[in-house]
Amino acid sequence: MGMFCSVIKFENLQELKRLCHWGPLIALGVIAICSTVAMIDSVLWYWPLHTTGGSVNFIMLINWTIMILYNYFNAMFVGPGFVPLGWKPDSMYLQYCKVCQAYKAPRSHHCRKCNRCVMKMDHHCPWINNCCGYRNHASFTLFLLLAPLGCIHAACIFTMTMYTQLYNRLSFGWNTVKIDMSAARRDPLPIVPFGLAAFAATLFALGLAIGTTIAVGMLFFIQMKIILRNKTSIESWIEEKAKDRIQYYQLDEVFLFPYDLGSRWKNFKQVFTWSGVPEGDGLEWPIRAGCHQYSLTIEQLKQKADKRVRSVRYKVIEDYSGACCPVNKGIKTFFTSPCTEEPRIRLQKGELILATRGLRYWLYGDKILDDSFIEGVSRIRGWFPRKCVEKFPCDAETHQAPEGEKKNR
Ligand SMILES: [Zn+2]
Ligand SMILES: [Zn+2]
Repeated sequence: MGMFCSVIKFENLQELKRLCHWGPLIALGVIAICSTVAMIDSVLWYWPLHTTGGSVNFIMLINWTIMILYNYFNAMFVGPGFVPLGWKPDSMYLQYCKVCQAYKAPRSHHCRKCNRCVMKMDHHCPWINNCCGYRNHASFTLFLLLAPLGCIHAACIFTMTMYTQLYNRLSFGWNTVKIDMSAARRDPLPIVPFGLAAFAATLFALGLAIGTTIAVGMLFFIQMKIILRNKTSIESWIEEKAKDRIQYYQLDEVFLFPYDLGSRWKNFKQVFTWSGVPEGDGLEWPIRAGCHQYSLTIEQLKQKADKRVRSVRYKVIEDYSGACCPVNKGIKTFFTSPCTEEPRIRLQKGELILATRGLRYWLYGDKILDDSFIEGVSRIRGWFPRKCVEKFPCDAETHQAPEGEKKNR
């Protein structure tokens, strides 16, 4: 029911674009192939529908398909929930998103692909072409549970179909294999013979089903861990950086992750509810004792400031076109181009760059624009070859100052 409501409720048909993307096309293709081949196999060869087992088997197959698609489309079209555009709370501990013209609510992050700030963002999932977050966490995780279960069922049908049909026709003489073949023996000649095309289709579907079971099953366990700890992938990353920051400056503080309520059951109930709507509003979150509403966002602000302190200034000594794999910057630069969708930035001799992180042959950073403090000028940020820049040390006064924060015990 909810699926149809959400399909009809589309405020803008732009949402349909989510379907026309390689991720959903592949995912729906796999679901279609596995369920269609499983149903055809069970009707024609294993299990015969006139037996009780066969009828139950067939109803189960239809059930899996419906439940998988229901949760899949819910995860895709209900979406993660976005922070309202222009959202403005009375707090000074939140970062501002220039794109959404709104403050970033606790646990929300701006997703470049969704082009919105996503509530309790975990990651942008290419298979649903949407983010996994506050609203669709339950349906997304249910999909990750049901898809492997359906695939295991389908894999059993494929195996039994091939076994019974090939055994009947070719008689491998597997005398040691004792499987109840009564159904096959009662109908020694199926209406449609199990031909080469059927064999190929069943074998192909079996491969897809086994692959899906393993790959999606692993994703399910990852998501269950996230739900039971109430800590998204991004938040685990922030926690790591918090420990790193505290160690670097040798501070006395201990970072306590505020959203883990300390009980797996409570964390679970926050995501999975009988109504299907998760607890809360996605903007304000229940917190454990000893923390307050902005424990995590304050830590994020500290990390942002710290990144600035620890970043290094570079001066461009060689032009760079912004090509992903530049041919004229050395063979190692060419082959070690960072495997991300983050942009590359065009460089011109004489420009200044503030690098925040880097690889051996590549650096990531912000261009230092003369008028970067003027409101409305967005940042130019991305990867560039290390070969095109050199350290620019003459900023000792301006960038040494925060070093005073460093506390030595
Ligand atoms: Zn945003
Ligand atoms: Zn996204």
